[in-house]
Amino acid sequence: MSTRHPRIIEVAIPLRLDRTFHYRVPSEMERQDLAGRRALVPFGRRRLTGYILGDVRETPPQELKEIAAVLDPEPLWTDNELEFFRWVASYYLHPLGDVLKTALPAGINIQTPKGAERDGTSLSGGKTVKTEVVFHAAAPGEPVPHLGSKAAAILEVIREGEDVPAAHLRRRFGQCSPQLRRLAELGLVTGTTREVYRNPFSDMMVEQDAPRILSTHQQAALDAVYAALDRHSFAPFLLNGVTGSGKTEVYLQAIARTLEQDKNALVLVPEIALTPQLVRRFLARFGHCIAVLHSGLSDGERYDEWRRIRRGQARIVIGARSAIFAPLAGIGIIIVDEEHEASFKQGDGLRYNARDLALVRGRLERAVVLLGSATPLITSMFAAQQGKMVLLNLPERVEQRPMPAVELASMKGVATAIGPLLAPALEATLAAGEQAIIFLNRRGFATYLICAECDTPLTCPNCSVSLTYHRQRGQSVCHYCDYAIPAPGTCPACGCHELKELGAGTERLEHDLRQLLPQARLLRMDSDTTGGKGSHGRLLARMFDGSADILVGTQMIAKGHDFPGVTLVGVVNAEASLSMPDFRAAERTFQLLSQVIGRAGRGDAPGRVVVQAQSSDHYAIRHAVRHDADAFYRQELEFRREAGYPPFSFLACLGFSGTAEKPVEEHAETMARLLMQLKRERGLRVEILGPAPAPLYRLRGRFRRQILLKAPARNDLRRLLVAWQHGRKPVSAIRETIDIDPVDMM
Ligand code: ADP
Ligand code: ZN
Repeated sequence: MSTRHPRIIEVAIPLRLDRTFHYRVPSEMERQDLAGRRALVPFGRRRLTGYILGDVRETPPQELKEIAAVLDPEPLWTDNELEFFRWVASYYLHPLGDVLKTALPAGINIQTPKGAERDGTSLSGGKTVKTEVVFHAAAPGEPVPHLGSKAAAILEVIREGEDVPAAHLRRRFGQCSPQLRRLAELGLVTGTTREVYRNPFSDMMVEQDAPRILSTHQQAALDAVYAALDRHSFAPFLLNGVTGSGKTEVYLQAIARTLEQDKNALVLVPEIALTPQLVRRFLARFGHCIAVLHSGLSDGERYDEWRRIRRGQARIVIGARSAIFAPLAGIGIIIVDEEHEASFKQGDGLRYNARDLALVRGRLERAVVLLGSATPLITSMFAAQQGKMVLLNLPERVEQRPMPAVELASMKGVATAIGPLLAPALEATLAAGEQAIIFLNRRGFATYLICAECDTPLTCPNCSVSLTYHRQRGQSVCHYCDYAIPAPGTCPACGCHELKELGAGTERLEHDLRQLLPQARLLRMDSDTTGGKGSHGRLLARMFDGSADILVGTQMIAKGHDFPGVTLVGVVNAEASLSMPDFRAAERTFQLLSQVIGRAGRGDAPGRVVVQAQSSDHYAIRHAVRHDADAFYRQELEFRREAGYPPFSFLACLGFSGTAEKPVEEHAETMARLLMQLKRERGLRVEILGPAPAPLYRLRGRFRRQILLKAPARNDLRRLLVAWQHGRKPVSAIRETIDIDPVDMM
């Protein structure tokens, strides 16, 4: 062993620090492969858990400290993964240590390394590992005298089975530890502890399912993907297929090929809790080599799934956005389903977009990346047009099922929530024994209450929004901070007892439907009715088995559910999402409407859709109603070009917030001046807009200002952001956020 040069390693610390640190490695670890493991390191007066990135080549200054312990017997990450995390940290201007911490399941960090020795706690040694005790018979089955009847019965069960879990015995015999102890003392049974994985889908029974014969369009798309898989190099695809065109079937068959090549598959979906059907289809095709990661898992479940993946016991990982960090080695394909969904963007901490990172990770892993959607992002379509991705089209529904017939109903002058076109359509649907979905993207009974005397609205004291009236709960609630007061209550300004209800939400819609159709069996699905674990599944199941007639809901019902019995879809207040203060408002509205419209007629019966809107002349609504994605794309692209928005510019948004208004205002002004100065010094082409109040000026008691940066070239934007990050002086009372909005990553 060479001792001429002490070995030096680079360590990332999970604190808000823009740099990494160097440590010496104790001589007894001179030869160990350390990259990708955690280490306990001295840091100031503390000892912290850091992440070892790799060796440092140059001769270091003498005063480096030594690491105290290595905490993992096996690396947590591969070299490819570490390179990916470095890229993420650099691109999003986020501390690498915090990126690595974000990438780990919460459970793993629970292990406090207090007193950990140099051989370390193990991946399986944390306290979140779940174990069970199993018993097997030590001696052949001769009768044993002097045993109580309970002990004899227990012994018999153990002799009949293999590795009988103690839990099973307890279920059958009640408390049985004394008997088990006695049997063990007599040398008749042996108990061993083994590790078990908590399986969030253990109660999901699915029937095996075989690949379908593909349509010509599906086959053409799959052939292109196969060819790319066979090349084993990075290949990005955009699978643009209308709702019900069989995109999922293409995913499944592409994955089958990937597995045959001994590679693994990563599948990102917007929100797993909303797509139990998709998980079910994967289970039916591939069985239990699947790991599922999503926000509904307990820490323990998440930690178990993480370890199964790291150990290569799962070949397919399905998860919401954070699954992009899954420790899956040998990735052959990354699929992003519903790539247009805003939920792929993480809104706090490390503000990444998993759809974009799929392309980055895919490139590092030399994998196929398949982005699928019925309504791709404008920027994705543009990238495909520019030849940066291969466009695959599925223009028709499978088995010649028609797209639903859509009618636009003007609600001008109509006072009821269910208008004169939708009401009879609902009645006819119920009379025919079919089902309907009604979509309204607002929950609650009334979206605001105002005083009948002085017109003062009821607003949240912590946020600049009005309170939503929830009649069943008897409260007016803030949907951002959960502030709640008894409702209807009184006017805060004049004390008047009469408050007017304005703006209908799903609770109100349900109420109106009950009056309109008293015999109908109604379900409501929104975040008020789906709080409990598994409540989504129960509501969806009632639509499936036909024990409900109408499902009323928010955008939760727009996603991926395939209800064969639904022939009518109603959209209430189609323009609700157009008023969002966001340049993507039209795009989001078009996507949402197209998805909802696509819920109709997925079984054998043709579908009908009624879209209710106050004013029906907005192009997002017009084109969605006509299923004309191309026309929408052209018009929206024109708007983006004129207004200088992506894909024709690169954006970043700097946010500043604090609990006192004045300091936030002043700090934002100072930062804007600094940005102007840096921009001039470096001759960068970046437009600096603001500071201005953020769209939600007050949120959870914090005042928020923002500066928007807009640049024709990404590199100018990046240089300005880096210069700003190094040049600014942070103020402790003010929180800063950076949102980088990329066009595409290639
Ligand atoms: P998408 O993901 O594009 O909405 P799906 O993959 O869910 O579409 O397909 C819609 C329905 O058609 C599903 O029930 C699916 O099982 C079925 N399907 C898909 N491809 C085929 C095919 N080639 N032949 C018959 N049925 C198919
Ligand atoms: Zn609030």
